[in-house]
Amino acid sequence: MTDHGGAAPAQYGRVMLKISGEALMGDQGYGLHPPTVARIADEVESVQKMGVEVCMVIGGGNIFRGLQGSAQGMERTTADYMGMLATVMNALAMQSALEAKGLHCRVISAIRMDEVCEPYIRRRAIRHLEKKRIVIFAAGTGNPYFTTDTAATLRANEMNCEAIFKGTKVDGVYDKDPKKHSDAKRYGEVSYDEVLQKHLGVMDASAIALARDNRLPIIVFSLDEPGGFRGILEGKGTYTRVHN
Ligand code: UDP
Repeated sequence: MTDHGGAAPAQYGRVMLKISGEALMGDQGYGLHPPTVARIADEVESVQKMGVEVCMVIGGGNIFRGLQGSAQGMERTTADYMGMLATVMNALAMQSALEAKGLHCRVISAIRMDEVCEPYIRRRAIRHLEKKRIVIFAAGTGNPYFTTDTAATLRANEMNCEAIFKGTKVDGVYDKDPKKHSDAKRYGEVSYDEVLQKHLGVMDASAIALARDNRLPIIVFSLDEPGGFRGILEGKGTYTRVHN
């Protein structure tokens, strides 16, 4: 029997949670901060316990970004592969934190590394979700010149997710940086085109366009708010919904 925790049924049956690698580093400025990873695992657990099927994509920016490497003279595609490998490390850390809580989780990589995690096979990933396993998609799209935002949107479409939840440090999309401007206004709803035209910085442009073309809503919310992820699925909380 699914444990719904006595709460309202979830608004979505299957979702993609996208977080940046930086979300895992705590206040350290680099790398992984295990208590922060465990805290995010708590958030995922509480949503999974509602019976929601959860996919995740975690970036790699806490370890390595391709653009940084190429700015320092490294060949761009090599630097991007290093960035993709960083996302695998983050995925494994999250898998470990989820498994420590007794949850079932599979890491699926876009770049084969069979000794470490599973290769991406769409039907197999869907089967894991049907069995209520949390699926973490690692190594981005497997291609240089992309980002993990695009990977999250691609996999969300392939997995038939009903929404992408983009966990950030703020509770939605603002017309200007709320950390710098006290009069910044949060959008409740905003269209994909407005996000693109006004460079609202939700996700990179290719990810937004891919979500728009497939009518996949993006929900931008604060990952720093305990219970925030679950709350939105119960119809509560503050967030911005990007849609048509
Ligand atoms: N990356 C890539 N192709 C992908 C996804 C990621 O080449 O499909 C590389 C790219 O170099 C990127 C790095 O992996 O800078 C880490 O991903 P991202 O910058 O999206 O991480 P985040 O900012 O979300 O932590």
